[in-house]
Amino acid sequence: MTDKTDLKSMTREELELLLAGWGEAKFRAGQLFEWLHGKRAGSFDEMTNLSKPLRQKLQESCYINGLEAKRILEAQDGTAKFLFRLRDGNTVESVLMAHDYGNSLCISSQVGCRMGCGFCASTIGGKVRDLAASELLDQVYEAGRLSGKRIDSVVLMGIGEPLDNFGAVLRFLTLVRDPKGLGLSHRHISLSTCGLCEEIDRLADEKLQITLSVSLHAADDETRDRIMPVNRKYKIGRLMQSCRRYFEITGRRVSYEYALIGGVNDGLETARKLAALLRGQNCHVNLIPVNPVAETPYRRGSRKSAEAFRAELERLGLAATIRREMGTEIDAACGQLRRKDREEEDGCAS
Ligand code: SAH
Repeated sequence: MTDKTDLKSMTREELELLLAGWGEAKFRAGQLFEWLHGKRAGSFDEMTNLSKPLRQKLQESCYINGLEAKRILEAQDGTAKFLFRLRDGNTVESVLMAHDYGNSLCISSQVGCRMGCGFCASTIGGKVRDLAASELLDQVYEAGRLSGKRIDSVVLMGIGEPLDNFGAVLRFLTLVRDPKGLGLSHRHISLSTCGLCEEIDRLADEKLQITLSVSLHAADDETRDRIMPVNRKYKIGRLMQSCRRYFEITGRRVSYEYALIGGVNDGLETARKLAALLRGQNCHVNLIPVNPVAETPYRRGSRKSAEAFRAELERLGLAATIRREMGTEIDAACGQLRRKDREEEDGCAS
Protein backbone atom coordinates (compact mmCIF):
# COMPACT_ATOMS: atom_id res chain seq x y z
CA MET A 1 0.00 0.00 0.00
CA THR A 2 2.76 2.42 0.90
CA ASP A 3 4.28 2.63 -2.58
CA LYS A 4 0.89 3.47 -4.06
CA THR A 5 -0.20 7.06 -4.64
CA ASP A 6 -2.59 8.71 -2.19
CA LEU A 7 -5.05 9.98 -4.78
CA LYS A 8 -7.20 12.03 -2.41
CA SER A 9 -4.20 14.19 -1.46
CA MET A 10 -3.60 15.23 -5.07
CA THR A 11 -4.69 18.58 -6.43
CA ARG A 12 -6.79 18.80 -9.56
CA GLU A 13 -3.72 19.84 -11.58
CA GLU A 14 -1.76 16.84 -10.33
CA LEU A 15 -4.60 14.50 -11.28
CA GLU A 16 -4.60 16.06 -14.76
CA LEU A 17 -0.88 15.41 -15.10
CA LEU A 18 -1.21 11.84 -13.86
CA LEU A 19 -4.00 11.03 -16.29
CA ALA A 20 -2.36 12.92 -19.17
CA GLY A 21 0.65 10.65 -18.69
CA TRP A 22 -1.67 7.72 -19.35
CA GLY A 23 -3.05 9.38 -22.48
CA GLU A 24 -6.39 10.30 -20.90
CA ALA A 25 -8.32 13.47 -21.75
CA LYS A 26 -8.17 16.38 -19.32
CA PHE A 27 -11.83 16.21 -18.35
CA ARG A 28 -11.28 12.72 -16.91
CA ALA A 29 -9.31 14.33 -14.08
CA GLY A 30 -12.35 16.46 -13.29
CA GLN A 31 -14.52 13.35 -13.17
CA LEU A 32 -12.04 11.59 -10.91
CA PHE A 33 -11.84 14.63 -8.62
CA GLU A 34 -15.61 14.67 -8.36
CA TRP A 35 -15.72 10.98 -7.41
CA LEU A 36 -13.11 11.49 -4.71
CA HIS A 37 -14.22 14.81 -3.23
CA GLY A 38 -17.81 15.34 -4.36
CA LYS A 39 -19.29 11.87 -4.14
CA ARG A 40 -16.60 10.62 -1.72
CA ALA A 41 -16.24 7.27 -3.44
CA GLY A 42 -14.55 4.59 -1.36
CA SER A 43 -13.59 2.34 -4.29
CA PHE A 44 -12.67 2.59 -7.96
CA ASP A 45 -15.50 0.22 -8.92
CA GLU A 46 -18.01 2.95 -8.17
CA MET A 47 -16.47 5.29 -10.74
CA THR A 48 -18.73 4.08 -13.53
CA ASN A 49 -18.12 6.94 -15.95
CA LEU A 50 -14.42 6.03 -16.12
CA SER A 51 -13.40 3.19 -18.45
CA LYS A 52 -12.62 -0.20 -16.97
CA PRO A 53 -8.95 -0.10 -18.11
CA LEU A 54 -8.53 3.32 -16.45
CA ARG A 55 -10.10 2.07 -13.22
CA GLN A 56 -7.80 -0.93 -13.39
CA LYS A 57 -4.74 1.32 -13.77
CA LEU A 58 -5.85 3.48 -10.86
CA GLN A 59 -6.39 0.40 -8.74
CA GLU A 60 -2.88 -0.87 -9.48
CA SER A 61 -0.96 2.30 -8.67
CA CYS A 62 -3.17 4.38 -6.37
CA TYR A 63 -5.33 4.08 -3.27
CA ILE A 64 -8.25 6.02 -1.81
CA ASN A 65 -7.43 7.03 1.73
CA GLY A 66 -10.10 6.91 4.41
CA LEU A 67 -10.62 7.00 8.16
CA GLU A 68 -13.33 5.77 10.47
CA ALA A 69 -14.78 7.00 13.73
CA LYS A 70 -13.61 4.81 16.59
CA ARG A 71 -15.50 6.82 19.18
CA ILE A 72 -17.92 9.72 19.13
CA LEU A 73 -18.64 11.58 22.35
CA GLU A 74 -21.36 14.17 22.64
CA ALA A 75 -21.68 16.85 25.31
CA GLN A 76 -24.78 18.57 26.64
CA ASP A 77 -23.93 21.77 24.80
CA GLY A 78 -23.93 20.00 21.42
CA THR A 79 -20.16 19.72 21.15
CA ALA A 80 -19.14 16.40 19.58
CA LYS A 81 -15.73 14.84 19.74
CA PHE A 82 -14.59 12.29 17.18
CA LEU A 83 -11.73 9.89 17.69
CA PHE A 84 -10.77 8.85 14.16
CA ARG A 85 -8.82 5.72 13.36
CA LEU A 86 -6.50 6.14 10.39
CA ARG A 87 -5.61 3.36 7.94
CA ASP A 88 -2.46 2.44 9.87
CA GLY A 89 -4.32 2.22 13.19
CA ASN A 90 -3.14 5.57 14.57
CA THR A 91 -5.80 7.85 16.00
CA VAL A 92 -6.47 11.60 15.93
CA GLU A 93 -9.21 13.82 17.34
CA SER A 94 -11.61 16.34 15.81
CA VAL A 95 -14.10 18.47 17.71
CA LEU A 96 -17.33 19.87 16.29
CA MET A 97 -18.69 22.94 18.08
CA ALA A 98 -21.97 24.74 17.49
CA HIS A 99 -21.54 28.52 17.72
CA ASP A 100 -24.13 31.19 17.04
CA TYR A 101 -22.23 31.94 13.80
CA GLY A 102 -22.36 28.31 12.64
CA ASN A 103 -20.69 24.95 13.14
CA SER A 104 -16.97 24.94 13.51
CA LEU A 105 -14.73 21.88 13.30
CA CYS A 106 -11.35 21.70 14.97
CA ILE A 107 -9.07 19.21 13.19
CA SER A 108 -5.69 17.59 13.90
CA SER A 109 -2.65 18.01 11.66
CA GLN A 110 -0.27 15.35 13.03
CA VAL A 111 -0.38 12.16 15.08
CA GLY A 112 1.13 13.56 18.27
CA CYS A 113 3.36 16.63 18.29
CA ARG A 114 7.05 17.40 18.74
CA MET A 115 6.79 21.00 19.92
CA GLY A 116 6.93 20.09 23.60
CA CYS A 117 4.74 22.83 25.12
CA GLY A 118 4.74 22.21 28.86
CA PHE A 119 0.97 22.45 29.42
CA CYS A 120 -0.21 20.43 26.42
CA ALA A 121 -1.47 16.82 26.37
CA SER A 122 -0.86 16.27 22.64
CA THR A 123 2.90 16.51 22.86
CA ILE A 124 3.52 14.14 25.77
CA GLY A 125 4.32 11.10 23.61
CA GLY A 126 6.08 13.14 20.90
CA LYS A 127 5.25 13.07 17.21
CA VAL A 128 4.35 9.76 15.60
CA ARG A 129 3.83 11.02 12.04
CA ASP A 130 2.44 13.78 9.86
CA LEU A 131 -1.08 13.52 8.52
CA ALA A 132 -1.60 13.44 4.76
CA ALA A 133 -3.78 16.10 3.13
CA SER A 134 -6.40 13.39 2.55
CA GLU A 135 -6.50 12.72 6.30
CA LEU A 136 -6.99 16.40 7.06
CA LEU A 137 -9.82 16.53 4.54
CA ASP A 138 -11.43 13.29 5.65
CA GLN A 139 -11.80 14.60 9.19
CA VAL A 140 -13.97 17.36 7.73
CA TYR A 141 -15.87 15.06 5.35
CA GLU A 142 -16.54 12.42 8.02
CA ALA A 143 -17.47 14.80 10.83
CA GLY A 144 -19.96 16.42 8.45
CA ARG A 145 -21.39 13.12 7.30
CA LEU A 146 -21.65 11.54 10.74
CA SER A 147 -23.17 14.57 12.43
CA GLY A 148 -25.45 15.47 9.53
CA LYS A 149 -24.39 19.07 10.11
CA ARG A 150 -22.94 21.59 7.72
CA ILE A 151 -19.35 22.47 8.58
CA ASP A 152 -19.22 26.26 8.26
CA SER A 153 -15.68 26.80 9.44
CA VAL A 154 -12.54 24.79 10.14
CA VAL A 155 -9.79 25.48 12.63
CA LEU A 156 -6.42 23.73 12.45
CA MET A 157 -6.10 23.69 16.19
CA GLY A 158 -6.30 20.02 17.15
CA ILE A 159 -3.42 17.62 17.75
CA GLY A 160 -0.14 18.61 16.09
CA GLU A 161 1.64 21.68 14.78
CA PRO A 162 0.20 22.49 11.34
CA LEU A 163 3.24 24.49 10.23
CA ASP A 164 5.45 21.49 11.06
CA ASN A 165 3.46 19.68 8.33
CA PHE A 166 3.52 22.55 5.87
CA GLY A 167 3.21 20.70 2.55
CA ALA A 168 0.18 18.63 3.52
CA VAL A 169 -1.54 21.62 5.13
CA LEU A 170 -1.07 23.70 2.00
CA ARG A 171 -2.52 20.89 -0.14
CA PHE A 172 -5.43 20.64 2.26
CA LEU A 173 -6.07 24.38 1.94
CA THR A 174 -6.11 24.04 -1.85
CA LEU A 175 -8.40 21.00 -1.85
CA VAL A 176 -10.89 22.16 0.78
CA ARG A 177 -11.88 25.28 -1.13
CA ASP A 178 -12.42 23.51 -4.46
CA PRO A 179 -16.05 24.07 -5.52
CA LYS A 180 -16.28 20.44 -6.68
CA GLY A 181 -15.36 19.35 -3.16
CA LEU A 182 -16.39 21.16 0.01
CA GLY A 183 -16.02 24.65 -1.45
CA LEU A 184 -15.10 26.15 1.91
CA SER A 185 -13.86 29.73 1.71
CA HIS A 186 -10.42 30.43 3.17
CA ARG A 187 -11.99 33.23 5.19
CA HIS A 188 -13.65 30.50 7.23
CA ILE A 189 -10.42 28.72 8.05
CA SER A 190 -8.02 29.44 10.92
CA LEU A 191 -4.61 27.95 11.44
CA SER A 192 -3.06 27.91 14.90
CA THR A 193 0.69 27.76 15.41
CA CYS A 194 3.04 27.77 18.37
CA GLY A 195 5.17 30.21 16.36
CA LEU A 196 7.37 28.62 13.68
CA CYS A 197 8.53 31.93 12.21
CA GLU A 198 10.03 30.78 8.93
CA GLU A 199 6.87 28.86 8.12
CA ILE A 200 4.67 31.83 9.09
CA ASP A 201 6.68 33.86 6.57
CA ARG A 202 6.23 31.17 3.92
CA LEU A 203 2.52 31.04 4.63
CA ALA A 204 2.24 34.83 4.30
CA ASP A 205 3.93 34.58 0.90
CA GLU A 206 1.16 32.24 -0.24
CA LYS A 207 -1.19 35.22 0.25
CA LEU A 208 -4.12 33.13 1.43
CA GLN A 209 -7.10 34.66 3.22
CA ILE A 210 -6.96 32.32 6.20
CA THR A 211 -6.76 33.60 9.77
CA LEU A 212 -3.48 33.08 11.57
CA SER A 213 -3.79 32.25 15.26
CA VAL A 214 -0.60 32.45 17.26
CA SER A 215 -0.23 30.63 20.56
CA LEU A 216 1.61 33.27 22.53
CA HIS A 217 0.90 32.34 26.17
CA ALA A 218 3.54 34.68 27.61
CA ALA A 219 4.59 38.30 27.33
CA ASP A 220 8.31 37.87 28.04
CA ASP A 221 11.00 35.49 26.79
CA GLU A 222 11.88 34.15 30.20
CA THR A 223 8.37 32.79 30.80
CA ARG A 224 7.85 31.68 27.22
CA ASP A 225 11.21 29.85 27.13
CA ARG A 226 10.06 27.93 30.17
CA ILE A 227 6.64 26.82 28.93
CA MET A 228 7.21 26.68 25.15
CA PRO A 229 10.51 25.23 23.88
CA VAL A 230 9.91 26.79 20.42
CA ASN A 231 10.72 30.14 22.04
CA ARG A 232 14.32 29.07 22.52
CA LYS A 233 14.61 29.14 18.72
CA TYR A 234 12.38 32.09 17.87
CA LYS A 235 12.21 34.78 20.53
CA ILE A 236 9.07 36.86 21.01
CA GLY A 237 10.58 39.82 19.12
CA ARG A 238 11.22 37.60 16.09
CA LEU A 239 7.72 36.15 16.34
CA MET A 240 6.17 39.62 16.40
CA GLN A 241 8.06 40.50 13.19
CA SER A 242 6.50 37.51 11.43
CA CYS A 243 3.04 38.34 12.77
CA ARG A 244 3.23 41.94 11.63
CA ARG A 245 4.50 40.80 8.24
CA TYR A 246 1.61 38.31 7.96
CA PHE A 247 -0.86 41.13 8.49
CA GLU A 248 0.93 43.46 6.07
CA ILE A 249 0.97 40.89 3.29
CA THR A 250 -2.46 39.29 3.73
CA GLY A 251 -4.46 42.10 5.36
CA ARG A 252 -5.79 39.49 7.80
CA ARG A 253 -5.90 40.39 11.47
CA VAL A 254 -3.77 38.01 13.53
CA SER A 255 -5.34 36.48 16.59
CA TYR A 256 -3.35 35.52 19.68
CA GLU A 257 -4.12 32.61 21.96
CA TYR A 258 -3.20 33.10 25.58
CA ALA A 259 -3.70 30.21 28.02
CA LEU A 260 -4.05 31.68 31.50
CA ILE A 261 -1.97 29.61 33.91
CA GLY A 262 -2.41 30.32 37.61
CA GLY A 263 0.65 32.03 39.11
CA VAL A 264 2.68 31.69 35.88
CA ASN A 265 1.33 34.24 33.37
CA ASP A 266 -1.96 35.55 34.74
CA GLY A 267 -0.94 38.53 36.89
CA LEU A 268 -1.96 42.11 36.11
CA GLU A 269 1.68 43.03 35.65
CA THR A 270 1.82 40.47 32.85
CA ALA A 271 -1.38 41.84 31.32
CA ARG A 272 0.33 45.22 31.09
CA LYS A 273 3.42 43.64 29.48
CA LEU A 274 1.19 41.86 26.98
CA ALA A 275 -0.65 45.08 26.14
CA ALA A 276 2.67 46.86 25.59
CA LEU A 277 3.91 44.02 23.38
CA LEU A 278 0.86 44.03 21.12
CA ARG A 279 0.18 47.76 21.14
CA GLY A 280 -0.42 49.13 17.67
CA GLN A 281 -1.12 45.73 16.14
CA ASN A 282 -4.51 45.11 14.60
CA CYS A 283 -5.15 41.92 16.54
CA HIS A 284 -7.40 40.05 18.90
CA VAL A 285 -6.49 38.14 22.07
CA ASN A 286 -8.26 34.91 23.03
CA LEU A 287 -7.83 34.15 26.71
CA ILE A 288 -8.22 30.47 27.59
CA PRO A 289 -8.20 29.37 31.23
CA VAL A 290 -5.68 26.51 30.97
CA ASN A 291 -7.11 23.01 30.84
CA PRO A 292 -5.36 21.09 33.56
CA VAL A 293 -3.51 18.03 32.21
CA ALA A 294 -2.65 15.49 34.90
CA GLU A 295 0.97 15.00 33.71
CA THR A 296 1.75 18.73 33.88
CA PRO A 297 2.21 21.03 36.86
CA TYR A 298 0.03 23.80 35.42
CA ARG A 299 -3.30 24.73 36.97
CA ARG A 300 -5.95 27.35 36.51
CA GLY A 301 -6.17 30.60 38.39
CA SER A 302 -9.55 31.88 39.59
CA ARG A 303 -12.31 33.11 37.30
CA LYS A 304 -11.90 36.47 38.99
CA SER A 305 -8.24 36.75 38.04
CA ALA A 306 -9.09 35.85 34.43
CA GLU A 307 -11.72 38.61 34.35
CA ALA A 308 -9.27 41.09 35.84
CA PHE A 309 -6.64 40.14 33.25
CA ARG A 310 -9.13 40.71 30.43
CA ALA A 311 -10.32 44.01 31.87
CA GLU A 312 -6.75 45.26 32.15
CA LEU A 313 -6.05 44.43 28.49
CA GLU A 314 -9.23 46.19 27.48
CA ARG A 315 -8.38 49.24 29.57
CA LEU A 316 -5.09 49.41 27.69
CA GLY A 317 -6.84 49.28 24.33
CA LEU A 318 -6.50 45.60 23.42
CA ALA A 319 -9.47 43.56 22.16
CA ALA A 320 -9.66 40.43 24.32
CA THR A 321 -12.23 37.75 25.08
CA ILE A 322 -12.25 34.83 27.49
CA ARG A 323 -13.00 31.73 25.51
CA ARG A 324 -16.25 30.07 26.39
CA GLU A 325 -15.61 26.50 27.45
CA MET A 326 -17.27 23.79 25.47
CA GLY A 327 -17.58 20.08 25.97
CA THR A 328 -15.39 19.82 29.07
CA GLU A 329 -17.16 16.66 30.21
CA ILE A 330 -16.11 14.85 27.03
CA ASP A 331 -12.43 15.75 27.29
CA ALA A 332 -12.80 18.22 24.43
CA ALA A 333 -9.43 19.71 25.32
CA CYS A 334 -7.12 18.61 22.61
CA GLY A 335 -5.08 15.43 22.88
CA GLN A 336 -6.78 14.12 26.00
CA LEU A 337 -9.16 11.63 24.40
CA ARG A 338 -6.43 10.10 22.22
CA ARG A 339 -4.26 9.60 25.30
CA LYS A 340 -7.06 8.08 27.32
CA ASP A 341 -7.95 5.73 24.48
CA ARG A 342 -4.34 4.57 24.16
CA GLU A 343 -4.05 3.99 27.89
CA GLU A 344 -7.14 1.81 27.77
CA GLU A 345 -5.90 -0.13 24.72
CA ASP A 346 -2.40 -0.99 25.82
CA GLY A 347 -2.29 -0.13 29.44
CA CYS A 348 0.37 2.51 28.91
CA ALA A 349 0.25 6.07 27.70
CA SER A 350 2.67 7.37 25.17
N1 SAH B 1 0.33 23.46 17.57
C1 SAH B 1 -0.63 24.49 17.31
C2 SAH B 1 -2.07 24.01 17.26
C3 SAH B 1 -2.50 22.96 18.22
S1 SAH B 1 -2.65 23.42 19.91
C4 SAH B 1 -0.47 25.59 18.34
O1 SAH B 1 0.38 25.49 19.20
O2 SAH B 1 -1.15 26.60 18.23
C5 SAH B 1 -4.12 24.39 19.95
C6 SAH B 1 -4.14 25.43 21.05
O3 SAH B 1 -4.41 24.82 22.32
C7 SAH B 1 -2.86 26.19 21.22
O4 SAH B 1 -3.12 27.54 21.44
C8 SAH B 1 -2.27 25.54 22.45
O5 SAH B 1 -1.30 26.33 23.04
C9 SAH B 1 -3.51 25.34 23.27
N2 SAH B 1 -3.39 24.40 24.39
C10 SAH B 1 -2.68 23.26 24.44
N3 SAH B 1 -2.82 22.67 25.64
C11 SAH B 1 -3.65 23.45 26.36
C12 SAH B 1 -4.18 23.38 27.67
N4 SAH B 1 -3.87 22.38 28.50
N5 SAH B 1 -5.01 24.36 28.06
C13 SAH B 1 -5.34 25.37 27.24
N6 SAH B 1 -4.87 25.50 26.00
C14 SAH B 1 -4.03 24.55 25.57
